[in-house]
Amino acid sequence: LAERIGGTGAGDELDRLASTLNEMLGRLDTAFTQVRRFSADASHELQTPLTILKGELEVALRSPRTPEEYQAVLKSALEEIDRIAHLVEGLLLLARAEAGVLRMDRRPVDLEQLAEEVYWRLKVLADSRSIRFDSELAEPVVVPGDRERLRRLLFNLVDNAIKYTRPGGVVRLSVRSADGTAVVDVSDSGPGIAAEDLEKIFLPFQRVPMTAPGTERGAGLGLSIARSIATAHGGRIQVRSFPGKGSTFSVYIPMSPEAPS
Ligand code: ADP
Repeated sequence: LAERIGGTGAGDELDRLASTLNEMLGRLDTAFTQVRRFSADASHELQTPLTILKGELEVALRSPRTPEEYQAVLKSALEEIDRIAHLVEGLLLLARAEAGVLRMDRRPVDLEQLAEEVYWRLKVLADSRSIRFDSELAEPVVVPGDRERLRRLLFNLVDNAIKYTRPGGVVRLSVRSADGTAVVDVSDSGPGIAAEDLEKIFLPFQRVPMTAPGTERGAGLGLSIARSIATAHGGRIQVRSFPGKGSTFSVYIPMSPEAPS
């Protein structure tokens, strides 16, 4: 065996082989654990709206109702179905991105214009929460990309910034270009994120209880989806945060396919 693997000490080679195998097994184990956790979390998230839906329909069927009452039940059922559909769509996007089979457009997209659209979509939400929403959108910043996916990326970040900032706070959205890279900054004066949680928040279903208490919390997919979309464009998302003062999420997207991000 020693000769077959190079004539040096067979023991060394075998040790190396064993440690490589062990390392691979360790990685496989971690991957399986992640898949198991992902499936368990996904099932749990789907079960909640399904249980609500089933309960509402059962109660409605049990005793006669007025047409108005039926209408209210149907409206609420439709809302739950929308939530389930949104969740399933998010899960599909993540699964496709993870498998490297996310289908994407590669057309010129002006991020400044897209940011402006997202600004006006979410301005109403900011106003309703008494949050000042500023934007700094000056010139076109064009990247090759998928318009709908990029819109979703920006929407998720701005939606979070507004969602996690208290009334009276400030959210700011800006787009610029630097060295062949488009940069979108979304900053807020919200609660901030502790250093040890900065990576965790990009994992599916991970929320920070301090910053996302009770009803404000979503399914916990927003940032994982945002990161997958940035990665699929050859870009990345960076977050800087000062607990108690606020956070800034920066998206970097290459302006040409070859440019570094
Ligand atoms: P969701 O908002 O649905 O919970 P996300 O993936 O968008 O899921 O965010 C994950 C977690 O990261 C949130 O639950 C929250 O704890 C934290 N987070 C995200 N954005 C912010 C922000 N701007 N300020 C403070 N915490 C944030």
